[in-house]
Amino acid sequence: EELCRELPKIELHAHLNGSVRDSTLLELAKVLGEQGAIDFSEVEGLIKRRGRSLKECFRLFDIYHKITTDHATVTRITQEVVEDFAAENVVYLELRTTPKQNKAKEMTKRSYVEAVIDGLTAVDSVEVAFLPSTVNARNLTNFLPNEVTYNQTQRKKIFVRLLLSIDRRETTAAAMETVNLALEMKDKGVIGIDLSGNPEVGEWQTFLPALQYAKQKGLQVTLHCGEVRNNREIHSMLDFYPQRIGHACYLEEEHWEKLKVSKIPVEICLTSNLRTERITSFKEHHFADLYKAKHPVSLCTDDVGLFSTTLSNEYYLAASTFEFNKEQVYQLSRNVIEFVFADDEVKRTLAEIYDAAERRFI
Ligand code: IMP
Repeated sequence: EELCRELPKIELHAHLNGSVRDSTLLELAKVLGEQGAIDFSEVEGLIKRRGRSLKECFRLFDIYHKITTDHATVTRITQEVVEDFAAENVVYLELRTTPKQNKAKEMTKRSYVEAVIDGLTAVDSVEVAFLPSTVNARNLTNFLPNEVTYNQTQRKKIFVRLLLSIDRRETTAAAMETVNLALEMKDKGVIGIDLSGNPEVGEWQTFLPALQYAKQKGLQVTLHCGEVRNNREIHSMLDFYPQRIGHACYLEEEHWEKLKVSKIPVEICLTSNLRTERITSFKEHHFADLYKAKHPVSLCTDDVGLFSTTLSNEYYLAASTFEFNKEQVYQLSRNVIEFVFADDEVKRTLAEIYDAAERRFI
């Protein structure tokens, strides 16, 4: 367990609002409760409860959003989430979040994303590099790996990139707005687009124009794919050929074949899939088959707050379930470098970070 914490790790699938610390949520909910805006005891019960169905999770997200949606809070939660990931030796984080409009708080999708970026800037306990290497080459020199990075005496360092999520409840126009925002903010740390939200809601055709536009404009795209059974949608998503997909729980034989030929990397969320009853045990998770087939995979947390996990824990779960040795765990984590959305310069730096840590694991 300790070793999984020490291992340098790359997180590619983390939703901002699902990654908020429970303690922060409770603190914020208490204030709103006192103001009469929410029923605190009800919210407290929900936050403290463990195992939840996916349906309940989405109900909870609506409550989370009531609690977190003002600029200062968005900035605060972003800062805390980055600090928490860095504290467990995540060296590269792709954080995704749905830009939200909220007239009452004078929030636009743009000001929401700006508040997130403010959160990245506000991080103090660790060094954060979130701008593209071409914009800020100086950051990279700070990142040259050294032994001290791993003995806790120096400030930790983390690369962060943002993905803007399209919520499946949104219209084509709203999805397009998010893509345009991502394009405008490419120099500020935004690197791609995610499609997420309740998988039982919305039609693939609604989002396709915006996703095609994103791809055409050079944004990277990842899709929540196969969270529920939906034969046609899964085929269409794979045909779209996104840069990565998340979950892939309900793929049929024909989908698996297509996926394996495509080599599209899969973001694997073990605890999330178990908690939301997508699988009945870790042993039978499709990760096992993909790993055996040497298909590109990366272990991810999805929502560390909501599912009470950490990325270190996800590596530990995989290692203990599938009896990986130290070297296999190291390699599993290192392989993820290939699937990050950042440029080659970042990938090279990540490789150096892993090189520096290698002795401990091999
Ligand atoms: P946010 O985008 O920062 O507000 O993070 C929470 C949002 O992420 C939720 O409202 C969902 O749209 C999305 N999300 C989080 N976890 C999942 C999941 O497991 N499946 C699909 N969407 C998810």
